Parts: sequence; C-alpha cells; structure tokens
Amino acid sequence: MSAAALDEQYDVVVVGGGAAGLAGAVALARMRRSVLVVDAGQPRNAPADGVHNLLGREGTLPRELVAAGRAELAGFGGTVVEGRVASLERSSGEGEPLRFAVVLEDGRTTTARRLLLAHSGTDVLPPVPGLADLWGSRVLHCPFCHGWEVRGRAVAVLSTGPMTAHAATLWRNVSDRVVVLSHTGPDVDAAQRGQLEAAGVEFVDGEVAAVEPLAGERQGDGGGVRVELASGAALEVAFVVAASQVRIDTALTHALGVEVTDVEVMGSVAATGAVVVDPVGATSVAGVWAAGNAAAPMATVPAVAAAGMQAGAAMTMDLAHEDLAAAAAAVRDVELAGAAR
Ligand SMILES: Cc1cc2nc3c(=O)[nH]c(=O)nc-3n(C[C@H](O)[C@H](O)[C@H](O)COP(=O)(O)OP(=O)(O)OC[C@H]3O[C@@H](n4cnc5c(N)ncnc54)[C@H](O)[C@@H]3O)c2cc1C
Repeated sequence: MSAAALDEQYDVVVVGGGAAGLAGAVALARMRRSVLVVDAGQPRNAPADGVHNLLGREGTLPRELVAAGRAELAGFGGTVVEGRVASLERSSGEGEPLRFAVVLEDGRTTTARRLLLAHSGTDVLPPVPGLADLWGSRVLHCPFCHGWEVRGRAVAVLSTGPMTAHAATLWRNVSDRVVVLSHTGPDVDAAQRGQLEAAGVEFVDGEVAAVEPLAGERQGDGGGVRVELASGAALEVAFVVAASQVRIDTALTHALGVEVTDVEVMGSVAATGAVVVDPVGATSVAGVWAAGNAAAPMATVPAVAAAGMQAGAAMTMDLAHEDLAAAAAAVRDVELAGAAR
C-alpha cells in the first residue's frame, strides 16, 4: 500500500504523535488550523501494561490512548501519517513569512508555517544483561506510574547513580520489601542509609551480573525477576527498579538551530538533548515550538498532554497574528495602489 500523499502546505506539522503531539494538534485543529502529525509509532511507554495516574482514563493501554487521540484529531479535520521526519529546515528567507521544509524518511515532503517538536526520546538503560527485555513490565522506573501495581511486593532498586536513596524512599511508600542493590552506584550517604534501614530497606552489596524473568505471564501478573550477582549469589524479587537516561534525538533540533540542554536531576544526567522552551513551549527559534518529553523528559502523560495543548494554543495565536498582519498589509497595498492611480 502506498503512503498517503501529503498536502503541499500545512499551518503546522507536528513531529511525533504521542500524548503531547496529539494534544497540540487537537488544540490547533479545533481552531481550524490545518495540522499534520507525523508519527513513528514508538511512544516511550509502549512496553507498559497501561497508562497509570491519568485521571479519568486510568490503566488505558498506551496504544489505545494514542488511537483515541488520533480519532479525536481526525474528527476535527487533522491528519496523522505514520512515518518518521528525516529533516526540517527553514525554507523562507529573511523578512518573508516563516516556512519550513519537512522531509520524511520515505521521501514524502511538505511545507509548514510552524513546527511542533513532540518527538520525545529513547530510554537508555544501564548495561545489565536482561534488563532491557523486561523494561516496562518487570523493570520499572517511575513509582507514580507503577507504584500502586507494585504495592506490597518485593522491589529491588538497582543503584547506578546518586538517585538511589531518593528512589528507595519513594518505593518504600508502596512496599515494605525494598532492597537496594549497590551495583555500580556511589555509596549512599550514611545518615540516609540509616533512615532507610530503620524503615526496613535492605542493602545488598556487589555488582549485578544479569536479571531474568521468573516463570509467569510477562505482564500484569505482578512480575517476578531473578537477580544474579557477580559473586554468584542470587535473589528473587517481584520487580526491579532501574533509572534510564532519556536520549532526545538532536538531529532535527540541530538542523533548525534550536537550543537544547542536558537535564540533571540530583547530580546525574537524566536526559540529553532536551529542547529549551518558554512556559508555552516556544523554542529559541521563531516558528518552532516543542512539547512533551522532547522538552520535559521527566513529565508524565497528563503533564505532556497539557504542555502540548498549551503549545497548540500559543501557536494558534501566533498564526492568527500573522494572518491579521497579512490581511492589513493587503488592504494597505490596495489603498496605496488606488491612491497612485
Ligand atoms: C516504561 C514506561 C512506562 C510509563 N508509564 C507511564 C504511566 O503509567 N503514566 C504516565 O503518565 N506516564 C508514563 N510514562 C511516561 C510517558 O511514557 C511519557 O510521559 C509520554 O509517553 C510522553 O509523551 P510524548 O508525547 O512526549 O512522547 P511519546 O509518547 O514518547 O511519543 C513520541 C512519539 O514521537 C515519535 N517520533 C520520534 N521521533 C520521530 C520522528 N523523527 N518523526 C516522527 N515521529 C517521531 C515516537 O515514535 C513516538 O510515537 C512511562 C514511561 C515509560 C518509559
């Protein structure tokens, strides 16, 4: 089946059709702006059993949430195409109305008056064999996303950086069976360790050699992971907690000249390549907005949807101002032409 043809120009092209991109596109489409969302179809939470902590849609499958967003957008006249944006560049000259050339990997091209970058990032996990296979099912990172599902079960926190005590403190809220695996992480501050141990948190020294699933369903069964230590010892827990680093692809932002930054949380780099935005998502480059994990890598689904909507609203206003200015200029030209006759 050949890929759908694109219009020659859209008011806005949105890169990425997760919650952020779709919410931004819906906000624009509801204001009758022409919107194209290009989506490569790999949201960060794809391996998870459901979207949690999302008011009113608790536990919805990630793919169902995206499908519902796409359907809503179509109802307001917006378009989603599956594909990957390969390049973006400013195609208008100085003093001309802003235009951006958009090229997809499959060769399709179009032009946008404005861009919304909502391409999020990729989770890079600590290099422990077996960890990536269980990501999102039995290897978890976010207690606000999965804490309730883990409640009362044995949780092992894999220490790889300075966030370990923070993570153990949060997971201790939902389980009184928390183990810290010292692995490659720095020593936990003695006072913090003392507090955690007083609350029943156990510390296991030594590097982790591998993790593997225990028998049982892969998702939704409460987990089950065997943790093998380099020493030859092993322990069994329901879930492992690991910190990922979110890597945001900078190829597109670099070509546009958009400012990006690394995001540090408690002294460790939690994300690289995050787009620097103002409170409504405007980037350092005129006509380019960003929302979602591309700009706020730690934000969860409701937060990115809000950011997308806010960016869509701000872009609508920006386009409306440009349209009014163009209309006024056209009237002025007619008047000047009349006066010259
Ligand atoms: C394992 C896991 C579980 C999670 N669970 C929860 C949870 O329970 N509740 C919660 O609120 N949050 C959860 N999160 C966080 C949640 O995934 C993010 O907040 C959310 O996905 C961010 O939305 P987004 O629209 O910014 O990006 P994404 O949802 O990641 O969507 C970005 C989209 O852009 C596409 N894309 C990338 N590059 C391009 C390109 N060049 N061209 C076109 N498309 C492109 C991607 O393929 C993807 O489809 C979880 C995260 C992980 C990793």
